[in-house]
Amino acid sequence: MVTVVVVVGLGRRGGDSMPSKPLRPCLHVGCSQLVSAGYCDQHKKDKQTYDRHRGSSTERGYGARHRRIREVVRREEPLCRECLKSGELTPSNEMDHIDGNALNTERTNLQMLCKACHSRKTIREQGGFGNKVIH
Ligand SMILES: [Zn+2]
Ligand SMILES: [Zn+2]
Repeated sequence: MVTVVVVVGLGRRGGDSMPSKPLRPCLHVGCSQLVSAGYCDQHKKDKQTYDRHRGSSTERGYGARHRRIREVVRREEPLCRECLKSGELTPSNEMDHIDGNALNTERTNLQMLCKACHSRKTIREQGGFGNKVIH
């Protein structure tokens, strides 16, 4: 009878503390919290914040990606789309986001314009903020 009670007790204690998993200090420099892997709860949160911040402000990464997309679109549309509407054949050199949202790089939101048409469109989009609206 007594032996059974002891075995049950040992089993429960083993399950609670999981002695097979060695703990090591949090990966954050200077933090001595013991964790099974990676960061302690606090620094896990910090790292997520850092990653999110890094993700939103990777201007360099965005720029490179943007350039690559622009190359593809330009190959498909070597002529300014706006000028083309009025029968003019103008080499395109600027990529425009049709809805004005630079983060929307869906192919359907991208078009190639010449510099003149692009700046005209930009001014039109910003019309009302001190700029004369050009029709
Ligand atoms: Zn930590
Ligand atoms: Zn044009």
